[in-house]
Amino acid sequence: MSGLDLVTDGFPHGTPEGYQQGCKGGGACAGKETGMTCTQANTLYQSDYEYRKLVDAGSTPGQIRSHYAEKLIREKAVRDAARAAEKPQKVKKVRKPARNPRQPQKTRLKTGHGSYTMGHRYCKVHEECPNFGTDLPTCREAVRDYQREWSTGRRARAKAKREAGLIS
Ligand SMILES: [Zn+2]
Ligand SMILES: [Zn+2]
Repeated sequence: MSGLDLVTDGFPHGTPEGYQQGCKGGGACAGKETGMTCTQANTLYQSDYEYRKLVDAGSTPGQIRSHYAEKLIREKAVRDAARAAEKPQKVKKVRKPARNPRQPQKTRLKTGHGSYTMGHRYCKVHEECPNFGTDLPTCREAVRDYQREWSTGRRARAKAKREAGLIS
């Protein structure tokens, strides 16, 4: 009996109601043509609050489809807008290196003047270091101090090893 009912024009295919009224196979469901079988509609009804609200409000599958279609279009518009807003920022980021030339000036950061890194890599002439003539050590001095400390440390380590009897 339900087999006949399933093919009548009035049967609510593509809705949870259709599922409850006996259209549970999916294969023969006319809802397939409208994008959703009764089984799928029933599953969605259990899991999707928004869909459940629409069904409970008496929306037809067609109305629900257009609701979701509009929603997809809106979401796509939001995504496109977000993407469009992102692009100019990326261009700005490329311009940023203008900040770098400021950095090596009078900073006392580790990579600034008066450090081993700076003296070892870039600032090798004592008199050309911005710290020259100030109380701060120049890069050249920083390198010299570093090397002195290092060799002092090496001698100390060697001495400790000798005393520990590791080397003669
Ligand atoms: Zn159906
Ligand atoms: Zn320097």
